[in-house]
Amino acid sequence: MKEFLAFIIGVCFGSFANVVIYRLPRNKSIIFPGSFCPKCRHSIKWYDNIPVLSYILLRGKCRYCKKTISIRYPVVELIMGVISLMLYEKFLAHGLFCPFLFYFIFALGLVIISGIDFETFLVPDIIVLPLIPLGMVGAFLCQNFFFSKTSAETFIAISRLLYSFSGALTGGLIVALLAITGKIIYKKEAMGGGDLKLLAAIGAFLGWRGVFLSIFFGSIIGTIISLALIYSKKKKWDDYVPFGPYLAAGAIIAILYKGSYFLSLYFIP
Ligand SMILES: [Zn+2]
Repeated sequence: MKEFLAFIIGVCFGSFANVVIYRLPRNKSIIFPGSFCPKCRHSIKWYDNIPVLSYILLRGKCRYCKKTISIRYPVVELIMGVISLMLYEKFLAHGLFCPFLFYFIFALGLVIISGIDFETFLVPDIIVLPLIPLGMVGAFLCQNFFFSKTSAETFIAISRLLYSFSGALTGGLIVALLAITGKIIYKKEAMGGGDLKLLAAIGAFLGWRGVFLSIFFGSIIGTIISLALIYSKKKKWDDYVPFGPYLAAGAIIAILYKGSYFLSLYFIP
C-alpha cells in the first residue's frame, strides 16, 4: 500500500515535470494558465488530466482536436513513478526520510533536465544550477545534523559536505577535460557547458565516485540506444545526440545501484 502511494506521488510529480518541460523553454508561466492542448489550445478538464490513465482512456488523442498527444507525457509520469517507488524502497522504507527527500528532488530535476535537453539540446540553468548547492546542503543535513550532539557527528556532516564539494569539482573538471580533448581531436564540441553543470550537480549529490559511476552507466545506456537508433535508421552516425539524458539515467542507476558503497560516505550512515 505504501509502495503504491509512493508510486502515485511520483506519477503526480511526473505530471508536474511535463508542465515544466513544455513551458520552461517557451518562457511560459509554470502556474498560469491551467493545462491546455498544445495543438488546439483548448483547456483540459481535470478528468482528461489524470496522469497516465487519461492518456490511455483518450487513446493518446486530444478530446477536442483529435491530434495525437506526445508519448512523452505518460512516459515521463511512469518514469517518475518508478523512481519514486525505488527511492522509497531504498530509503524511506528504512526510515531514511532525509536522503529520500533530497534524492527525490534531485531525480525530479534530472527528469526535467532530460526532457528539455531531448527537445532543445539545452540544459536549463534555472534547474541545474540550484541543484549544485542543494546537493551540498543535503550532504550536510542528512544525518539529522541539527539534532546531533556529539562532535563526531558534526565532523561526519562536515566531511560529507567536503565529499559533495569534491564531487561537484570532479564532475566539472572531467567535462572540461573532455571538451578540450574533443576540440583538439574532433575539432568540434564533444560536450557542452550544459553537461558541465549537470555533471557538477551529479557530483554534488553523489560525490566523486558517483560521478564516475554515472558516466559509466550513462555511457552504456547511451551506446545501446544510439546503436539501436542508427540500426533502425532513425539517426545517422554524425547526428548530434544530447548526452544529458544518459548522464541523468546513469545518475539514477548510480543511486539505486545495489551495494552502492560510495553512498556510505555520503547520505547513508
Ligand atoms: Zn487539442
